[in-house]
Amino acid sequence: MDPEPVAAGRRETTSGRWRRLATARWKSVRCAVVDVLDTYSGHTDPGGAAARRDLGALTITKVSVGPMDNNAYLLVCTATGEALLVDAANEPERLTELVASAGGAQLRTTVTTHRHYDHWQALGAVRDKFGTRQIAHPLDAPELPVPVDDTVEHGGTISVGQVPLEVIHLRGHTPGSIALVYRGDDGPHLFTGDSLFPGGPGKTGSADDFASLMDDLEERVFGTLPDETWVYPGHGDDTTLGTERPSLPEWRARGW
Ligand SMILES: [Zn+2]
Repeated sequence: MDPEPVAAGRRETTSGRWRRLATARWKSVRCAVVDVLDTYSGHTDPGGAAARRDLGALTITKVSVGPMDNNAYLLVCTATGEALLVDAANEPERLTELVASAGGAQLRTTVTTHRHYDHWQALGAVRDKFGTRQIAHPLDAPELPVPVDDTVEHGGTISVGQVPLEVIHLRGHTPGSIALVYRGDDGPHLFTGDSLFPGGPGKTGSADDFASLMDDLEERVFGTLPDETWVYPGHGDDTTLGTERPSLPEWRARGW
């Protein structure tokens, strides 16, 4: 069990740019536990404000929780108010406040991107608070601390209200890691868990696992989604597939 996604220095290269963007903006909602910015740069500070973006049919709010800069993403269907949380990673009080700040959103579902413990520290508390339905891939579901209600396979779909999210199974960081795709009017939005970060794939434990993850990333992510695809990783700053695509040969060659 090694949740460390990437060497700190590799993430730091982009965070400075995002941080400059983020700190230039104003907070729009003040809450007791978590502030929510209504402009979105892709950077959030551990323990700091959340950031929300409105994509029309869906709003996405990113918040960093816990000691490992884990990102949790609250997705709300604007037509119905139904909400889904990607990785109830930590700090259930702040996650609860985030839901409360989302204008009557009803949190119905959690999706856990993979089995590593830093991605589900708040899963039980969120389930108890909201009565959520838990979703994960069947290969990682048995490792989670609460029962999974629905398992999803590659090519499957998860709905948040009227908005479909496509499931991509990425094998390597863990056997049952998944990514989710929202097809927005402005292009795809991809939640990658620990399978893809700015600067490289997620950590793998063997050469075979690394090859498997690179194969899946190349075939199922970079091979099917365009450069404008926005990437929301499980730790640290966001990126785009276009930013990362030129580095694929380098990643393959270096082996991590
Ligand atoms: Zn992990």
